[in-house]
Amino acid sequence: MLPKHALLLTAFATFFAAASLATDDAPAKPNHYTIVRCGTLLAVPGQPAKSKQTVVIKNGIIESVRDGLEGPDLKNEAVTPIIEEVDLRDKFVLPGLIDCHVHLTMEFDAALRMRDLVESDGFTALRATTYARRNLDAGFTTVRDLGSGRAQVILDLRDAIKAGFVVGPRVVAAGHAISITGGHGDGTTGFREGLFLPSTPEGGIADGPDECRKAVRNQIKLGADVIKVTATGGVLSAAKAGLAQQYFDDELDAIVTTAHSLQRKVAAHAHGVDGINAAIRAGVDSVEHGTYLDDDSIALFKGRNCYHVPTLLASATVAANAEVPGFYLPQVAEKARLVAPKSIEMFRKSHEAGVKIAFGTDTGVSPHGQNAREFALMVQGGMTPTEAIRSATIVASELLGLEKEIGTIEPGKTGDLIAVKGDPTKDVTELERVACVVKAGSRVAPVTRQ
Ligand SMILES: [Zn+2]
Repeated sequence: MLPKHALLLTAFATFFAAASLATDDAPAKPNHYTIVRCGTLLAVPGQPAKSKQTVVIKNGIIESVRDGLEGPDLKNEAVTPIIEEVDLRDKFVLPGLIDCHVHLTMEFDAALRMRDLVESDGFTALRATTYARRNLDAGFTTVRDLGSGRAQVILDLRDAIKAGFVVGPRVVAAGHAISITGGHGDGTTGFREGLFLPSTPEGGIADGPDECRKAVRNQIKLGADVIKVTATGGVLSAAKAGLAQQYFDDELDAIVTTAHSLQRKVAAHAHGVDGINAAIRAGVDSVEHGTYLDDDSIALFKGRNCYHVPTLLASATVAANAEVPGFYLPQVAEKARLVAPKSIEMFRKSHEAGVKIAFGTDTGVSPHGQNAREFALMVQGGMTPTEAIRSATIVASELLGLEKEIGTIEPGKTGDLIAVKGDPTKDVTELERVACVVKAGSRVAPVTRQ
């Protein structure tokens, strides 16, 4: 039973749900309770789910997880509590999902290259707010944005979400990726010479260790949470340079040492095996894609405690799009056809060897909001549904360095949770149909959308 003096929210619920997004770190309401009654609760993926559980969230932080659907007793609260009830008694509840590799400022289609030339930063930012919301509605309460051609836009979007001006997932952002001249992260490749201002380390394009240090320092100065380096060629860049190592060992070393000295982790985009292995040897914290990894890579991943973010959905998406005439430039379609068949094989090898796999989709390559399609691909590659869910919660939170705040539903953690209809540990595609999202104690999507 709830105390009589408790203000039950009806019409106000929507208002507070939006307003209290500002509670990400600093709650807007001093005594705001969210009480989530769960039919089944998977509080810690990997441990058994329990039926009939109640999660009590106070000011955005989980206060308790209780057996049964009664209570809590809030009669003796010093300040009259504001109570938001979330009824998920017919749902399966689990922690908010984490995608370690997205690109919120873009969504790839045949018109992207031209749009990038004409669209203002302001319009790109507004477009990105919609993409961000789609990630959140799909159950992803935290995402890591690994590189934008518009560094300031993604950093501002992150801050606007945090401040409560925009509804979206918590964003961990890399700003602009660090790339060699003409490399995977150099967006001016393939255009007429003289069309753009010269590339600079400040803009993320760096050659030689000194420029690499400057590039890293400048992204951190702008506000980057993590550093992204394109260690090898990439599929979707216009370069006709293959997928092999692009940064030399001394450059990778300069990037990693500089980032770590400023308390930032490094995520390395890498397809070719020479680039994968060089990046891990240099000390990067995660390898994105990892398409052509070999036995040496596996040993390096495990020996250096490096995470693998396989992005199977990106491979599946580019493989399908490569067959649509005109969707990609010819050199891009050619690379897409090479990479796709390798990816499930690569995933299986990495998983069977016991490499730590953090969930990441490269969403933006695929449409925003479809991130959860990655789960079925991971299961196809040999994971159990529970392992795939752990990868998108506990393991991902560790890679982001946020394991004390997110990844499980336990007292002291942020009140991020989602609900689906069926049991995703039996059918992982249940996660493609998220019915309710609670971020930092506020319901941000309709309870039922089926
Ligand atoms: Zn990417």
